[in-house]
Amino acid sequence: MENQKTIMITSDLPPDFIPFNRPHLAGPELEYIRQAAASGKLSGNGMFTQRCQQFFEQDYGIPKVLLTTSGTDALEMAALLLNLQPGDEVIVPSYTFTSTANAFVLRGARIVFADSLSDHPNLDVARLEALITPRTRVIVPVHYGGQPCNMVALLSLARQYKLWVVEDAAQAIEARFLNRPLGTFGHLAAFSFHETKNLSAGEGGMLAINDADLATRAEIIWEKGTNRAAFARGESARYEWVDIGSSFLPSELNAAYLWAQVEARTIIQQQRQQLWETYAKALAPLAAAGAFGLLPALPDSQPNWHIFALLCNSQTERDDLLAHLREQHILAVFHYLPLHRSPYYTPRHDGRPLPHADRFGQTLVRLPLYHELQPEQQERIIEAIRTFYEA
Ligand SMILES: *Cc1c(COP(=O)(O)O)cnc(C)c1O
Repeated sequence: MENQKTIMITSDLPPDFIPFNRPHLAGPELEYIRQAAASGKLSGNGMFTQRCQQFFEQDYGIPKVLLTTSGTDALEMAALLLNLQPGDEVIVPSYTFTSTANAFVLRGARIVFADSLSDHPNLDVARLEALITPRTRVIVPVHYGGQPCNMVALLSLARQYKLWVVEDAAQAIEARFLNRPLGTFGHLAAFSFHETKNLSAGEGGMLAINDADLATRAEIIWEKGTNRAAFARGESARYEWVDIGSSFLPSELNAAYLWAQVEARTIIQQQRQQLWETYAKALAPLAAAGAFGLLPALPDSQPNWHIFALLCNSQTERDDLLAHLREQHILAVFHYLPLHRSPYYTPRHDGRPLPHADRFGQTLVRLPLYHELQPEQQERIIEAIRTFYEA
């Protein structure tokens, strides 16, 4: 009995607990998984995988899309595809998830951290040029919360210095910059379908290959270094080992789940927008009175409502706010500990201060934002924030 109690930890949560995230079932996920099982093919690159890939190729205008088992895997594929070598330098924002940098560190690259904008976690494109050296190979912009980095300025810099651009579009599905989908600007882009992202497969991801010259090799790296995909299309006489690679394909079970989410994307996005705008409207007066900050909408952006964040005035205030919400049975969270401050990378960092990344790491709070969040729950969250600041 004791054991069972510790295992079934969710049943110990108070009945009015509001989680930070809850996976959304759009409807047909389980039926599509049943169809995948009935089809007799559950390994990768089956019908549902191809449906998802073709959808994004056509809808976003991407020459080649490959589903992966995670956004992390898509970034690792990018690092393999670009032949990153020990000593190569890769420019990455410090305020991001580990995988943005780790994918390149796995190839021996040195990470040069960029600071964020003063008012938004995205890297400051105006201060990128100073970070470029003769060893720089790649720039990895992260579109935080689906808000775009200035890709016009960034691409022009990359062209001038002949650098690759890999967009970390993990949070940017369905977001646009200048009316074009994020993830279609760089040579490559990594998307994530992790449980916490707008469209989900539990764990999942996708590599967008916008530079068509990289497409053939991408498919080989994806299929464990073999030409299996080309062979299956009848383009190669033999199925054999032709290059390095790994196992980056998701199972059809995951792709089937994802396809239901892709089909439901309009409704999913509308619901997120509505929840996001409810927060924005209710919290604007407190923000205007200086209680906390809100992230600005960045220029030329059509956002995807991925994150709603508050910026507290100090780390202590942030921690107190999270504790206050916890007392009201609401789970809000902070992220990221800037990577230049991480136990792994601090000894490798060149020592430049990155004050804006530090500040977002100390003061940013993400509020619960998921499809099934009910109006009365959202009202409770807003009320709890009001009582914290008006006390
Ligand atoms: C979620 C995320 C990733 C990693 O995606 P996974 O699918 O979880 O591997 C990478 N970068 C950023 C910015 C993310 O938010």
